[in-house]
Amino acid sequence: MSDGAGPIQIRQREWPDTLAVSGLRDTGWRPVPFRQFILKVHGKCDLACRYCYVYQGADATWSTKPTVMSASVADRACDRIVEHAAGHGLDAVAVVLHGGEPLLAPQELFDRIAHRLRGGLPPGATVDLRVHTNAVSLTPARLDALVAAGYRLGVSLDGDAAAHDRGRRYANGAGSHAKVDRALRLIASRPGALAGLLCTVDLANDPVTVYDALVHYGAPAIDFLLPHGNWDSPPPHRPPDDSMPYGDWLIAVFDRWYGDANPVDVRMFADIMRLLLGGASTSELIGLSPCALVVVDTDGSLEQVDTLKSAYHGAAATGLSVLTDSFDAALAVPAVAARQIGLAALSDVCRACPVHQVCGGGYYPHRYRRGAGFKNPSVFCPDLRRLIEHIESRVRADLGGVVSPT
Ligand code: SF4
Repeated sequence: MSDGAGPIQIRQREWPDTLAVSGLRDTGWRPVPFRQFILKVHGKCDLACRYCYVYQGADATWSTKPTVMSASVADRACDRIVEHAAGHGLDAVAVVLHGGEPLLAPQELFDRIAHRLRGGLPPGATVDLRVHTNAVSLTPARLDALVAAGYRLGVSLDGDAAAHDRGRRYANGAGSHAKVDRALRLIASRPGALAGLLCTVDLANDPVTVYDALVHYGAPAIDFLLPHGNWDSPPPHRPPDDSMPYGDWLIAVFDRWYGDANPVDVRMFADIMRLLLGGASTSELIGLSPCALVVVDTDGSLEQVDTLKSAYHGAAATGLSVLTDSFDAALAVPAVAARQIGLAALSDVCRACPVHQVCGGGYYPHRYRRGAGFKNPSVFCPDLRRLIEHIESRVRADLGGVVSPT
């Protein structure tokens, strides 16, 4: 069996394929409405990053989709977002234009989306518009147009030039840091335009040097992202043992950040501290918060978070489309529900773990193991436990013991 993108392996039913959403509802559980909508406005990219999970991962569905989202699909996606917000009484939604590389799509499409959402949302409801970009093609004129339409930019940056260019390269092997640096200096000239930086962890890079390079740009937030992988396709240098290379890397960054007199918002660290103090996380990367994010691909198909594409071909698919289905229909898909049921989605190993309320089993795509599905500890399990216990010890020491990780 093939769709032209290579042979597709037949996969047996595994968790959460077998999750009965109607049974969950019978117990009183109700899905959480989506609040973050990722619109993939362009399906191709002008970089060929070494760790890319879209074009080099197990899922090749990108090769069968339109390159650019059409105006009619964008309109339908916006109308579905408005319908969802109105139906659930949401006072705020976040819409992120994504890719591939979204800036390869025309600005007219960005303007159209912003205009249609603002015109359609109920009175008083707000939309946080963002673009997640590699920024290499950003021009002053494009930035002006994005800012005028109300978009803020999240930019992928992996550190200083040496660190960034280790992974984020063009197809010919040339690094992209010089262009990203130029773009970030340009963005800095438009106050408020930079929403944050996204940094993928590479163990070959020095953690403190990376952190200092990121902080240099004055972004209001930094997201550290673990490279994608699972038990069948392990992340780079993540052996199936109790070593903690990613935990140690992140601890070096945490200690630098924690000692900073005026620290930037590093979401992973802030969420762990919030969870240790009894609060909730702000994303599904850590903790047991329900995932309230959904993806619309260039053809209008509804997908789960596209990092699932690192697991297997079709892992992110729901079989639904904005052309024919509401977002409420996606909430009834077992794989979507599985990322909203918190503790019930954890493996027995995680439930018995002393830090599970903080860790939450790790990021859902990182739990996959063929045959068992997603009900496993994260492939980063030792790293996560080491990081959480380190942060707990630092915070506990400062607060005189008032910390409860479980
Ligand atoms: S540290 Fe490991 S066992 Fe504990 S909750 Fe996280 S993934 Fe599960």
